[in-house]
Amino acid sequence: MLNENAVSVLRDGLAAYGLTDGAAAEALGEYLERVLERNRVMNLTAITDPVEAVRLHLLDCAALVRQYDFAGKRVIDVGCGAGLPGMPVKLLVPSVSLTLLDATEKKIDFLRETASAMGLADVTCTAKRAEEAAELRERFDAAVSRAVAPLNILAELCLPFVRMGGVFCAMKAKSAGEELRAASRAIPTLGGRVRECAEYTIPGTDVTHCAVWIEKTAPTPSGYPRRYAKIKQKPL
Ligand code: SAM
Repeated sequence: MLNENAVSVLRDGLAAYGLTDGAAAEALGEYLERVLERNRVMNLTAITDPVEAVRLHLLDCAALVRQYDFAGKRVIDVGCGAGLPGMPVKLLVPSVSLTLLDATEKKIDFLRETASAMGLADVTCTAKRAEEAAELRERFDAAVSRAVAPLNILAELCLPFVRMGGVFCAMKAKSAGEELRAASRAIPTLGGRVRECAEYTIPGTDVTHCAVWIEKTAPTPSGYPRRYAKIKQKPL
């Protein structure tokens, strides 16, 4: 069980976002408990203090649902690790059809087990590298990703998954300006256009982050994504 303090930080933080669904708060708490429990035997997160994890994982990711209407959307979380931000989005907006994608099989096994134990419908867990998941191309209304790669590389991993008219959201530190500049050629080349960099402060902290929202305005040319070695060696 999350301790009382962590539960109240979670409830207060969600309320600060205007999210008052008690069942969702409970589900988020259960999910985090499972992450912290499994973290004892495998590497899922460096944050082990429950209150810090509530703030820097759950409340950080919960910020997204205030910025975009996820209801009924097909969403892919690219490089989801322990399920962040995809799981908090799904638990707050249960009508989301969620695909969790990560290159590490053990993390995906944990998520499959967790989704099943929590009785979550419409969650697909896929152990694959993003650049090797061609079958998922242009299948999603939204791709989300946190702490996976710099934006110029991340855009090549994520934008191919998004249908025309959909969005890609990259969760970044406040100082996303430099990454945006470095990706100023990559994003349009891949069919994207930056809509906004939405700053938010995580409730109960002075931590400000930025969600970069990129619209898919043109199809991604068929040569992308390239092999990872190529992407890293020669980012667009
Ligand atoms: N998104 C999670 C979070 O915010 O806590 C996990 C971040 S973790 C630092 C980065 C994750 O990205 C790892 O789990 C790694 O396996 C995954 N990853 C890195 N490159 C990837 C790729 N090309 N395709 C799929 N997963 C990738």
